[in-house]
Amino acid sequence: MNFFNFVELSHFLIDNYVEEGSITADCTSGNGFDTLYLCRKLQGKGFIYSFDVQLEAIRRTAKLLDEKCRYNNFRLIKDGHENIDSYIKENIDFAVYNLGFLPNHDSRVKTDPNTTIISIRKVLKLLNKKGIVVITVYTGHDNGNEKKELLKFLEKTDEKSYSVMSINLININKYTPELFIIQKNA
Ligand code: SAH
Repeated sequence: MNFFNFVELSHFLIDNYVEEGSITADCTSGNGFDTLYLCRKLQGKGFIYSFDVQLEAIRRTAKLLDEKCRYNNFRLIKDGHENIDSYIKENIDFAVYNLGFLPNHDSRVKTDPNTTIISIRKVLKLLNKKGIVVITVYTGHDNGNEKKELLKFLEKTDEKSYSVMSINLININKYTPELFIIQKNA
C-alpha cells in the first residue's frame, strides 16, 4: 500500500473500519473506484449509497460495478451530496469524499465548498459512534479555496463529539491535496 496516495490511504481506512454489514456512503461516485472498493469489502452485506451530480459519473460507476462487483447492495443516486438526508434514513458507519472534478470530463462541474460543507454537516449527524468520514480535497480545481474552507469548518467541529485529523504532503508547494479523517467519538 502506498499511503502517500490518498486514494490508497482511503482504501486502507475502508479495509480497517468497514465491516461486512456496515452502512456506507460514497459522496462523490466519480469513476466509481471507491464504490467498487466498498462493494468488495462488504461482500453483499450492509449497503452503499453512492452520490454524484453528473450522469456521466453515475454511468461510469454503474459500468464498473456491473463488470467487477457481483453484489447488488448499493444504490447509485444522481443528486448532490448536500441532499444526502433525503435518501439515507438510517445511521451510517463510513463515508468517503473525493472532491474536485471528474477526470476526463467537463472540469467546470466540480465540488463546491458550500455544498460540500452542508453535506458533511449532515453526514456527521448520520454517523454512528466510531464511524469514520474520509475526505480527499485537491487544490488544482479552485486555487485551494475548497481546501481552505474545509479546514476552517473542520477546525471548529465539536471536539467532544468528533476527532478530526488532517494529513498533508508538506514538501509539495503547488497543487497539494489534503486528507481529512473524522471519527465520531464513542
Ligand atoms: N479529483 C478526483 C476525482 C473527483 S471526482 C481525481 O483526481 O480523481 C468528483 C466528483 O464529484 C465528480 O464526478 C463530480 O461530478 C462530483 N460532484 C460535484 N459536485 C457534487 C455534489 N454536489 N454532490 C455529489 N457529487 C458531486
